[in-house]
Amino acid sequence: MNKKGMGRHIVFTGVPGCGKGTQARILKEKLSIPHLSTGEMLRQEAAKATPLGLEIKALLDKGEFATDDMIIDMVSQRISEPDCEHGFILDGFPRTLPQAKALDKLLTKYGISLDAVIEIQVPDEIIMERILGRYACMKCGAGYHDKFQKPKIYGVCDVCGGTDFYRRLDDNRTTVQNRLINYRALTYPTIPYFEKKGLLRCVDGTGTIEAVSKKIDSVLGIA
Ligand code: AMP
Repeated sequence: MNKKGMGRHIVFTGVPGCGKGTQARILKEKLSIPHLSTGEMLRQEAAKATPLGLEIKALLDKGEFATDDMIIDMVSQRISEPDCEHGFILDGFPRTLPQAKALDKLLTKYGISLDAVIEIQVPDEIIMERILGRYACMKCGAGYHDKFQKPKIYGVCDVCGGTDFYRRLDDNRTTVQNRLINYRALTYPTIPYFEKKGLLRCVDGTGTIEAVSKKIDSVLGIA
């Protein structure tokens, strides 16, 4: 197995709707390393009309987590691909303690150490409004919000000019409530785990996208 010790290896964590996907996409452009979102991998699988796809779709619709084994397999396979040789950004993984421990094993196997685990902190009161208003361009994935991030021209994507948009099916009030419960019960214990390793960097996620991005650059020591 190749050693992949070079490059940046960063984890984004935080409550659903904290902006980790948005910030991971921005950082990916700056560092030219892939953005690995386990949520996105699951959504792609769920879009297939296969038995596994349907099973995953049922989990996502309820805001339940996929099993650790399935997720660990997915990530393990993905980070062994050539584009991860010079680093990667993990978004939404690890989401449980067993996943965090499995990540440690994978990193050891590849001779990699994490640069940082960035926790984007956003209070619960503003999470629901953020999530319920968000949508994305069907063509390029650029993210928008009904209130906080409207396209410059109504109905037209700023980035690619696309005119079709979608909302995530799990971005509804009932599912979000369940996702928040699962975050507290299952993901929150990973925070002290990374803190003990000296990897945790907390960033206030309540400002504008640009302001949060600047804070992330600063904790990562990017000019
Ligand atoms: P996200 O796009 O990160 O908000 O993830 C969307 C949904 O995918 C979550 O609510 C979970 O149901 C599922 N999911 C994503 N990542 C994981 C993971 N690491 N472990 C278990 N379930 C996950």
